[in-house]
Amino acid sequence: MRRPFVAGNWKMHNTLAEARALAKAVWNGLRGKNRVDVALCPPFTALTTVAEAIKESPVKLGGQNCYFEPKGAFTGEISAPMLADAGCACVIIGHSERRQVFGETGELLHKKVRAALQAGLDVIYCVGETLEEREAGRTEAVVARHLDEVLAGDIPPARLTIAYEPVWAIGTGRTATPEQAQEVHAFIRPRLAQVFGLDAAAAMRIQYGGSVKPNNAAGLMACPDIDGALVGGACLVAADFLAIIAAAADSVS
Ligand code: PEP
Repeated sequence: MRRPFVAGNWKMHNTLAEARALAKAVWNGLRGKNRVDVALCPPFTALTTVAEAIKESPVKLGGQNCYFEPKGAFTGEISAPMLADAGCACVIIGHSERRQVFGETGELLHKKVRAALQAGLDVIYCVGETLEEREAGRTEAVVARHLDEVLAGDIPPARLTIAYEPVWAIGTGRTATPEQAQEVHAFIRPRLAQVFGLDAAAAMRIQYGGSVKPNNAAGLMACPDIDGALVGGACLVAADFLAIIAAAADSVS
């Protein structure tokens, strides 16, 4: 049985005061509940504030991105060791907004994944197709390419979570149906098995992301290959994020 993993991607939201309040509200709502791994991924400015707010809790801190060099003249960038130093346990790599808005390529993402692991961070690696790609029947080809960009036997599988995030479902309110999501998750797992072996792949978490909300989380989390969620908009409201975590917990009870 895989332990669900729900991560909140705060994107470019929240002042320090808002970040502190949201992190504390999540932690308060989780007290005594321990069936799901939970991570909060605030913007860089709020990392230490959130680290402080959750320091007595099992909630993990995550970054939303990092650069692959450990330090140097890279204005505006943050390195993986810096994230670790700020208290992060994990980092999101390859989010579609990084690919689309900032032009991140597979070659760059490959380096970022290695740098993150080297710095001791676990990785949430995002894959997913655009609407155009889905409608052209290329979903599996795109997801396979995204996986192939980074997967290799040198990665410790237990430190890697795959987030399947169909681009057409991110921030749009249009969620993949549980059947659509499960179909892609069931495509991903055997590809993980080709690289890591059957047992390791069976233990890996594959999150779904894309307009996960309290009212659709239970159906998604009930799917056999969906092991949690990467949540954007709904993670900015503590009650909604907690409801999604509860749906993930219920899926394994
Ligand atoms: C995301 O940004 O990873 C995401 C899934 O966003 P949303 O939940 O808002 O679609």
